[in-house]
Amino acid sequence: MDNNEIKDNLCPPATKKIKIDNFGIKAILSDDYKKDIELMQVHSCQLESKQQLQAVIKELALKLPHFQHLKRVHDRNVLICPSDDIKETLEQHLKLHQISDNVLKALCRNVNVIEVPASSAKLRVQYEKMSKFWPCKFHPDKYAESLQNGSNFTDSQRAYHKRMAELLWKLSKDVSKGQNVGICVDPRRPSIVAIAAAGDGSSHQHCVMWLVDHVARSQRGGAWQSDVEFVKDEPHTKSTLSGLPQIFYDYLKQDAACQDLSLGAELPRREEQQQQSEPVVEDIHADNLCKYGPYLCTGYDVYLLREPCLMCSMALVHSRVKRIFFLEQSENGALTSKFQLHAVKELNHHYEVFQFTM
Ligand SMILES: [Zn+2]
Repeated sequence: MDNNEIKDNLCPPATKKIKIDNFGIKAILSDDYKKDIELMQVHSCQLESKQQLQAVIKELALKLPHFQHLKRVHDRNVLICPSDDIKETLEQHLKLHQISDNVLKALCRNVNVIEVPASSAKLRVQYEKMSKFWPCKFHPDKYAESLQNGSNFTDSQRAYHKRMAELLWKLSKDVSKGQNVGICVDPRRPSIVAIAAAGDGSSHQHCVMWLVDHVARSQRGGAWQSDVEFVKDEPHTKSTLSGLPQIFYDYLKQDAACQDLSLGAELPRREEQQQQSEPVVEDIHADNLCKYGPYLCTGYDVYLLREPCLMCSMALVHSRVKRIFFLEQSENGALTSKFQLHAVKELNHHYEVFQFTM
C-alpha cells in the first residue's frame, strides 16, 4: 500500500453537517498570477528636447527592440537597453548595434541606471504595482480577472457547484464509508455523467482512476473489472446512465433533495453525426464536446472530495477534463498542496482548478 492509497481510502468520515451557504469557490491560479514583481536594471537617458524623440524611438525600435511590455518613453526619459547587455561602455554598445551618430549623441547624455519591471503583468493588480516603477503596457484578460475576483460564475452556476460539493460530502459519508468520492458532470445541461469512490483493491485504484473508467463506460468503453453493479439503460434511450454505479443512483433517487438533479451522459455520436454537427465557421474556442460529442472527459467537470494526487491529476490531463473542483486539500495533492500540475506549460492539455473554501 503506498501513501496515495492511504490518503485516498482512509481519511476519517466527515461527521458534522456542512453548511454549503458558507462555501466560497476559489480559482487556483498559477504562480504567474500571484508572483511579486521582478525588476531588471536598464540604462535610460533623458533627452535634451522632445524634438529628438521621433528619430530616437524609430532607431531604437529597429536596432535595439527591447521592452515590449513597457512604454519606451516617459516624459523625455527613454529606455535604451538592459544593463546586463552592455559588455563595455554604453557608447560602444550603441556603436556595435549601428546606432547613427546623432541618435548616439542624444542617448549618451544624462544616462541613468534604473529598475523597471522585467516581465508583463497578467492581472490589473500586478499592472498597478508595476506602473509605479515605469509606465507599462497592459492588455487586460477579462476572463483571468474574473477568475481572480470570483466573478466568473453566474449565481446559478455557483449554486450548482456548491450542490455538487455537498453531494460529494453526503455520498462519502452515507454510501462510501468516508472514502474519497468523485462526480463527473456534463456542464452543458448540467447532468451527472459518472460517480466513483476509491477502490479497496490495488494501490492505483484511486477514486479518480475509477471515475475516468466509469466515464469511459458511458461511452461504451471502460477497462477495469470490479464487482460494482452499474445502472442498465432502457432500450432506445437518448442518454446513458451506464457511468453510474447502482448504489449511488439508488441513493440519489431516494434523496428528496436530489430529485431535480439531471442524471446521464450524451451517447457517443457515430462518425456521420459528428460530421453533420461540425460548424461551418471555424471557431477556435468552440467547445469540442458540443462539436464532436463525448470523448474521454472532454468538456466535462470533475468534482472531488479530496485534492487528487499526481497520478490522478495526470490521468485527468490525459482525459481532457475541463475543470476540477475539490473540497479538501491532500498532503500529496498535485493541484495546490505539493504541486500545481495545471500550471505546467509543457503539458498538452490544461484544466482549470477550483477549491471550495469555508
Ligand atoms: Zn490519486
